[in-house]
Amino acid sequence: MGGGNEIPKTNRILPVPNSTASYWRSKPHRLDEYRSTEHLPSQADITIIGTGIAGVSTAYHLLDIKTHNDTPPPSILLLEARQVCSGATGRNGGHIKKLPSTIVELIEGLGETAAGEVVKFIRENIYGVKRVIEKEKIEAEAELRRSFDVSLDEEDAREVKREYERELESGFPLTEDLQFVGEEFAERVRIDPSAITSLHGAKAGLSTPVLSLWPYKFVTQLLERVLSKGTANLQTNTAVTAIETHDDDGGYTVTTNRGQVKTPIIVFATNGYTAGLLPQYHNIITPTKATASHITVPANKPAPQYFSNTYNIRYSKNRVDYLNPRPDGSIVIGGGKWTYEKERELWYDVYDDSTLIEPARHYFDGLMQRHFRGWEDSGAETESVWTGIQGVTKDGMPHIGKVPGAKGQYILAGYNGGGNALAFLAARAVARMIREGISFEQTGVPKCMETTRARLDAGKA
Ligand SMILES: Cc1cc2nc3c(=O)[nH]c(=O)nc-3n(C[C@H](O)[C@H](O)[C@H](O)COP(=O)(O)OP(=O)(O)OC[C@H]3O[C@@H](n4cnc5c(N)ncnc54)[C@H](O)[C@@H]3O)c2cc1C
Repeated sequence: MGGGNEIPKTNRILPVPNSTASYWRSKPHRLDEYRSTEHLPSQADITIIGTGIAGVSTAYHLLDIKTHNDTPPPSILLLEARQVCSGATGRNGGHIKKLPSTIVELIEGLGETAAGEVVKFIRENIYGVKRVIEKEKIEAEAELRRSFDVSLDEEDAREVKREYERELESGFPLTEDLQFVGEEFAERVRIDPSAITSLHGAKAGLSTPVLSLWPYKFVTQLLERVLSKGTANLQTNTAVTAIETHDDDGGYTVTTNRGQVKTPIIVFATNGYTAGLLPQYHNIITPTKATASHITVPANKPAPQYFSNTYNIRYSKNRVDYLNPRPDGSIVIGGGKWTYEKERELWYDVYDDSTLIEPARHYFDGLMQRHFRGWEDSGAETESVWTGIQGVTKDGMPHIGKVPGAKGQYILAGYNGGGNALAFLAARAVARMIREGISFEQTGVPKCMETTRARLDAGKA
């Protein structure tokens, strides 16, 4: 055995057991703890680590791509430390969208051209996921809706309006997707024909298309389609603990808690946990903990108003929650970051999702009653609260493509809390690089998302 990814013992970042129970994972799919074979295979053409939206989508595209010379489909091994889709994808907000009120930050960080590419890429992801759901007949409560960023603060509303008008004037891409409503309409209830947001004290709303879905159902059913093709092997409860290069052919030995596998190609779909296996991403993709909840209403009370939109509530510029109403009338709400933000040790560089973030434990109680018209006497209750681990990057962009300097290693990770909106087509790009041998530039993924030596170096500064 030669070099490889040496993992400092003090720096092991592995998914922990007994993660908090999320609403999305409340009815486990039959594949949740599935193993295609009793033992690990000794060899695989491609090994994917992680079975969230990134890993499973990569497997899907690898088998969906038709090569010119009709090469047979590769053997794929999917390794998952816990249950299928038990990482961030099984515990998020269920939104695929770009928050319209944050486009300005993208422009400030990247410039108009690159920011435009990112917004277009997210839009392609919305429709990419929608199309595959239709093609593969996946039932994931997917609904193409509108999502409102609602400002409750006057100054924030003015700023959102100013930035929106600036984007319109400059011809920023896809502004035709956006719609601004001012205070005179923003608070009206849905039964009014000009109904807009229903939020008490709404000063403005900026809306955009969103694909709202049940991510766990999407991923597990997509995985079913992958396994039905016959060349993929799924091994759950199998944590990768080391990766070494073998000298003879330059391939890799992947060590797990259940044995070893030889493979020439590894895809790291490990998001917040990536630095545990690729130490060069330490301090580049940082695990951070976030929280969300599920709110239900008592069955014996008249149902409060049903929402067809989804929301981000902007109490102020830096205090934002997100709401994803479910078709059954219940609501998934996440956020509450401002309650714990100053206590960094509770969430930053944290990869333990087996506990709640204490200051936010009761944050979601009564939120619907406080903020939404028609919900005051709803009796809505917090049915569950959970946590999940995101991957946050230094420059706010994910790392996609070939791991610099490591032949046969690919990564798609570090989505800064927005991976639903990026991973499906990031996975397609990585799959094409592997199967078609194309370059990153040829994939169509925005250049700012390519993982490069320069980004790894810049991040360490
Ligand atoms: C509370 C919360 C709300 C969010 N809301 C949204 C939202 O509304 N919209 C949006 O776009 N994004 C949202 N996100 C972010 C989104 O969930 C992630 O960006 C996305 O799910 C990342 O997908 P992934 O497949 O890369 O990672 P994950 O889903 O985290 O999957 C990584 C997998 O790798 C496995 N793994 C890691 N290390 C190893 C190892 N050593 N061996 C074997 N397996 C390993 C893990 O167990 C895990 O299953 C939210 C995240 C959280 C936590």
